Amino acid sequence: MSEQVERIKTLIIGSGPAGYTAAIYAARADLKPVMYTGMEPGGQLTTTTEVDNFPGYPEGIDGPTMMVQLQQQAERFGTEVRIGMVTAVDFSDEPGGIHKITVDDSKQIEAETVIISTGASAKYLNIPSEQRLRGGGVSACAVCDGFFYKGQEVAIVGAGDTAAEEASYLANICKKVTMLVRKDYMRASKAMQHRVNSLDNIDIRYNTEVDEVLGEQVVEGLRMVNNETGEKEDIVITGLFIAIGHKPNTDIFKGQLDMDETGYVITEGKSTKTNKPGVFASGDVQDKEYRQAVTAAGTGCMAALDAERYLASIESKEAVVS
Ligand SMILES: Cc1cc2nc3c(=O)[nH]c(=O)nc-3n(C[C@H](O)[C@H](O)[C@H](O)COP(=O)(O)OP(=O)(O)OC[C@H]3O[C@@H](n4cnc5c(N)ncnc54)[C@H](O)[C@@H]3O)c2cc1C
Repeated sequence: MSEQVERIKTLIIGSGPAGYTAAIYAARADLKPVMYTGMEPGGQLTTTTEVDNFPGYPEGIDGPTMMVQLQQQAERFGTEVRIGMVTAVDFSDEPGGIHKITVDDSKQIEAETVIISTGASAKYLNIPSEQRLRGGGVSACAVCDGFFYKGQEVAIVGAGDTAAEEASYLANICKKVTMLVRKDYMRASKAMQHRVNSLDNIDIRYNTEVDEVLGEQVVEGLRMVNNETGEKEDIVITGLFIAIGHKPNTDIFKGQLDMDETGYVITEGKSTKTNKPGVFASGDVQDKEYRQAVTAAGTGCMAALDAERYLASIESKEAVVS
């Protein structure tokens, strides 16, 4: 363990749209933010080629370029962007308390405020053909990528509320949606099941799983397998959507922050405040509802403003005491 301890005002954990937006606002408010990028600098959008729905890009933009531009904007105001993983945290319970953070199991940081923007990772099936075609027709976000398959035939894997919601969304855009449900029933609520069942262009296949995604460079079809009979069937599709859930990146905060049953950080009311004073959460890590770049950026802005107000309130209390 290194002995070096660095004291800073604001630490931002994570470099997706939430983290960079928090950084832009925090830097402009002179909070001198330091950001650790984590294992995926730029976040989830670096895994997609086209972002067409982020305001301000009339022609659309590719994800990696957008994230480089966000980094440049954050650095223009003085954000210090560092490569590194936060590996442990010890948050103070006291208003005005100092939060202790360990980076890469060695570097010690003490921060007056912390903004958590560690995102949530989409779960994949993890079969080779699916992994090979990620970004080539395999996507984990129907709302983000469904538009690219307008009028085409697609498939979706999943059986929960999100899968049902995304299947309905796709059915409005696409010619046909084949929905693969692993069990002989759906986990989605009755209302969502009713919605899916009422749409003529959704073909629900129960007891069905992906055997192989077909295509070399892009998705050209899907080999499905019935897990009861072992029977295989090929269909022609151009897009495959995986909707089997997300895992919020919150393992290091367990036991420190209040979380819901699936591990999303709970924030107070409309704010980004967590249960620890001076610790704020923004982006997908605290939002299992919307999970979009623009909503993540919006809450990143809120987190920086909340951090600024928190520091101001602590300073004014200290001024009264002295
Ligand atoms: C394939 C795909 C396509 C998408 N397309 C669109 C789209 O077109 N439009 C749209 O609006 N949304 C899209 N989304 C959703 C969008 O990417 C997310 O909503 C958004 O990126 C969430 O931003 P975030 O900042 O909360 O987290 P993320 O982008 O997930 O970033 C999380 C960051 O936290 C870091 N991190 C995690 N753990 C640690 C740690 N311990 N220490 C330090 N850093 C850590 C990671 O390295 C990463 O930088 C897409 C998502 C996917 C997967």
